[in-house]
Amino acid sequence: MKESSLCPECGNSRHWMGDCQNCGSKTLPELLIDVVELNLKSSAPSAEEALDKLTHQLRRASEVDLKAILLIHGYGSGGEGGRIKKVVRDALERNYFSDRVTEYYFGEELSHGNLLYQGLLRRRPSLKRFLEQFKQGNAGLTVLLLGTSL
Ligand SMILES: [Zn+2]
Repeated sequence: MKESSLCPECGNSRHWMGDCQNCGSKTLPELLIDVVELNLKSSAPSAEEALDKLTHQLRRASEVDLKAILLIHGYGSGGEGGRIKKVVRDALERNYFSDRVTEYYFGEELSHGNLLYQGLLRRRPSLKRFLEQFKQGNAGLTVLLLGTSL
């Protein structure tokens, strides 16, 4: 993943998750971005591991004040991609993340230029460079808009 923030202690660019890889600082980073892409399929976790990973990253996201996450979970009727998608979307619909996620948009409902897409980009213009690559709706992703819990 690209470096997306700065370490307030050593001033180097660092990842937004975890401790600074340059100096080991545990101080929260200064974000250079307000949207990140999170791929839950990478390292091929089980659906349960993917949900744990998302829970952990959402907690961190609210600490550093991220505004949105483009979640890539894959799709399909069979296979782990389909299971991750189902588990994540079930959790969203049961308000499991409602303290952090204020709104969510299913990728298949967002196609280039439709009303939902336009409305989402008005709310969060920095999503544009992420969404532009998906000309058609894409069921393998979900966009999460995050609230500030602090
Ligand atoms: Zn550092």
